[in-house]
Amino acid sequence: MINIKTPSEIEKMRRAGDIVKGIWDMLDKEVKPGVTTKKLDRLVEEYIISHGATSNFKGYGGFPGTICASIDEVVVHGFPSERKLKEGEIIGIDLGCILDGWHSDSARTFLVGECSKEKQELVKVTRESFFKGVEQFKAGNRIGDIGNAIQTYCESRGYGVVRTMVGHGIGRSLHEDPNVPNYGRPGHGALLQTGMVLAIEPMINLGTYEVEILSDGWTCVTKDRKPSAHYENTVALTEKGVEILTL
Ligand code: MG
Ligand code: MG
Repeated sequence: MINIKTPSEIEKMRRAGDIVKGIWDMLDKEVKPGVTTKKLDRLVEEYIISHGATSNFKGYGGFPGTICASIDEVVVHGFPSERKLKEGEIIGIDLGCILDGWHSDSARTFLVGECSKEKQELVKVTRESFFKGVEQFKAGNRIGDIGNAIQTYCESRGYGVVRTMVGHGIGRSLHEDPNVPNYGRPGHGALLQTGMVLAIEPMINLGTYEVEILSDGWTCVTKDRKPSAHYENTVALTEKGVEILTL
């Protein structure tokens, strides 16, 4: 069942989104060669708590971190660790919070120092594809229009679009209906309506779209071990049009 949000509920989600915006500003300065992902995790946890919110990731299904820290071939759900980031790596950071019972969810892929042209382009196209998807988030369109726009944009540039993990509705729960795949057919899937709030999140691979899960049961990597990028925002469809709550 798709939960339609009232303007006052979206206002609460906007405030949960504002906390995430502040975290991205902080991480822009903190992500660099030599920093451990555990330290980034701790900084984000402190930020969330000091703003009166709680993490929606920590403990979710037993997940150990406040952030997911996914380096290079890790697509999503990497564990924060004592490993230091190295020049030339890319790191996807996924995080969110709960404020007054309402969730936000967002992800960015950062370049660690100087990265190859190949990685720079992958990160750029992944971000751009999110906005291609958002252009289709309007009343009367369907979920497949969003996915098709992302898929077409990325596949025409030779990238692999992850199939087994998808975006989602969000609200009082982190994951609500509907699923929001990054692929699809125009005019198919659930009808988009004012009051819907979606986490739109392209996960785009340099090589094959195929992924596998490591033995820890969480870490999702590309099958060919080529790099992958992730970009996500919580997006509301209001009377005034689309509003990105975490950017
Ligand atoms: Mg996320
Ligand atoms: Mg999400």
